[in-house]
Amino acid sequence: MAPCIKPQQEAQDLQDPFEKLVAPQAAPRKHEIVHRAVIGLAYVHLAAIYGLYLAITAARWYTILFSATTAVAAGIGVTAGTHRLWSHRAYKAKLPLQIILMVMNSLAFQHSAISWIRDHRMHHRYSDTDADPHNATRGLFFSHIGWLLVKKHPEVLRRGKYIDMSDIYANPVLRFQKKYLIPFNWTICIILPTLIPMYFWGESFNVAWHMVMLRYVYSLNVVFLVNSFAHMWGNRPYDKSIRPTQNSLLSFLAYGEGFHNYHHVFPWDYRTAELGNNWLNLSTLFIDFFAWVGWAYDLKTVPDDVISARADRTGDGTNSWGFNTKSN
Ligand SMILES: [Zn+2]
Ligand SMILES: [Zn+2]
Repeated sequence: MAPCIKPQQEAQDLQDPFEKLVAPQAAPRKHEIVHRAVIGLAYVHLAAIYGLYLAITAARWYTILFSATTAVAAGIGVTAGTHRLWSHRAYKAKLPLQIILMVMNSLAFQHSAISWIRDHRMHHRYSDTDADPHNATRGLFFSHIGWLLVKKHPEVLRRGKYIDMSDIYANPVLRFQKKYLIPFNWTICIILPTLIPMYFWGESFNVAWHMVMLRYVYSLNVVFLVNSFAHMWGNRPYDKSIRPTQNSLLSFLAYGEGFHNYHHVFPWDYRTAELGNNWLNLSTLFIDFFAWVGWAYDLKTVPDDVISARADRTGDGTNSWGFNTKSN
């Protein structure tokens, strides 16, 4: 518990002077490759390609359904959990829902939720500068996966200390995951999803293992696409001066997270979209369901008139679907 106190005080003391120093290219960009990450991510991607082959040629239907279900659960563990609940505090969750989301997040295994949240808060505070861990000005590959293959930019390390993480370090559910990260996440993400198809419907180890790799890599890349494609291509209905864009197809793949221009303008909206409750936004439906149960509460949204006023003021004249909405 103790380590969280000092950074929080520093963040309050030094917030303004540091904010002013942000520049798109504040320090030289060097690539110091992290070989362990390259080998690990190369292996899981190659194994996933073989998993795709096995999915077509050898996997049982139960295994395919199980993989699809765990992929959705893992994705929502990131979107509704680490992203909307913990990174942005866009709603509040009672303990049972926090535990469910933490387990679903462990299924995705994108390092610890705490590391993910720190990177994401950096991403919003310093979007598309050198202090943004997946700075999209460094290209599509870097913002997609390259940033995980090299050492962090000095600006990310330097300013990372000043991001307020006090609420996160005070959260016992997230501290538990961080403390037991390797055994717990390996069990939830890899071991159990391999053993369940083998034990319950007699799937072979070879198929079960590689289907886990396929699901894992799919879940990784869906999130990566928000960092890469949704900072490159698409329209900007809410703020044309920033890189993040709207992308409906990506929203469908990423459980409602592709309305990224909106999200960067209004990051506290629990829907991460002005469209709200619709079939493209599975994460919102998930949160709405638990709001109905009573485990999710204080859901934050942005009033429609505020959204349209902002669109009129700084948007590019399109709507979320890319159609031009300005009459002249
Ligand atoms: Zn972004
Ligand atoms: Zn965000």
